[in-house]
Amino acid sequence: MSTLITNIGELVTNAAPGDDPGHGPGSFAAQAGAALVIDQGRVAWTGPAAQAPAADDAVDCAGGAVLPGFVDSHAHLVFAGERSAEFAARMAGTPYQAGGIRSTVAATRAAPDQVLRANLARLNREMLAQGTTTAECKSGYGLTVADEARAVALAAEVTPEVTFLGAHVVPPEYDGDRAGYLDLVCGPMLSACAPQARWVDVFCERGAFDADEASAVLAAGRAAGLLPRVHANQLGPGPGVQVAVAAGAASADHCTYLGDADVDALAASGTGSSGTGFSGTVATLLPGVEFSTRQPYPDARRLLEAGVTVALATDCNPGSCFTSSMPLCVALAVREMRLTTQEAVWAATAGGARALRRTDVGHLGVGARADLMLLDGPSHTYLAYRPGVPLVRAVWQAGQLIA
Ligand SMILES: [Zn+2]
Repeated sequence: MSTLITNIGELVTNAAPGDDPGHGPGSFAAQAGAALVIDQGRVAWTGPAAQAPAADDAVDCAGGAVLPGFVDSHAHLVFAGERSAEFAARMAGTPYQAGGIRSTVAATRAAPDQVLRANLARLNREMLAQGTTTAECKSGYGLTVADEARAVALAAEVTPEVTFLGAHVVPPEYDGDRAGYLDLVCGPMLSACAPQARWVDVFCERGAFDADEASAVLAAGRAAGLLPRVHANQLGPGPGVQVAVAAGAASADHCTYLGDADVDALAASGTGSSGTGFSGTVATLLPGVEFSTRQPYPDARRLLEAGVTVALATDCNPGSCFTSSMPLCVALAVREMRLTTQEAVWAATAGGARALRRTDVGHLGVGARADLMLLDGPSHTYLAYRPGVPLVRAVWQAGQLIA
């Protein structure tokens, strides 16, 4: 069963004609007056609508733009409860601190499986309806062996991009025994979680874990077959980015407070990349967090000018940023971080794919997974030009029309 998607006003492919799909996304690229053919869940053809081959089925986009599905490479979706009172207090002047995570930990531990599963399904539906076809999902609100194992098992029901984040904060029962908690994370908790996870993450921040602790967690995760990623330099300058690059992490996330050495390390990490994809450390920016915590935005232009690969993600979580909207992140990146509309859309699609070391998503080159969205607007620019407006008219995931 093949489907022709035609009369596309602007088709964003992030791939040049003839690109080897095995290399993953290329730079931003778009075609006007285009069509695309989906066959067996993959992109089979793209080009001028007038030259499109026949297919079993056809969809007329009436001049709307078609983009690769968003790749949201940073989200915390397995939790119970909510923290709107903390948000209101923060907007009234109370600063954000990492310790607020503990209240979500208490609610999550107390919740039955079906509550966590229903919450996860609701957030996953929200994301799909807004064009997100690949989402990463972290544990980190359980912080016992059983509760973390439950979180990764639930996450694995909705995505292959499951991240073990036992090192989110030290839970209250380990106050005064950090070493004991780290032994638990790197020992029995990791053993219980690794079979269902792809990634290991650590919150490297004042109030959470220092450089030595974070490096130990990542090394243990690697030894268990997981790939590293890091929460880095969110609340102030710190060692997170250096820890991430030294560990060969796929991504350093937040990057709000960076020194010159941090920018240089991120830029140098990607220079050897070639062949079957990007192997450096992506700087994943989470502008919804700065919006929701009223912090200064990261200096994205400095990163781009230094040659760093930049991704955008939501960080959807009940504390520091409770949005699931990649279109909002694109609009914030353009308006507040001075990305061009092309740079922002690339970072939210191809950049996210690089942050997850995926070559099959984030682009619409021939051979890519047929993950795409149709916008109610003629170009990708509408995502930032019409902020807050529900513009995603249709979503295909692996070739299936799902929203
Ligand atoms: Zn996070």
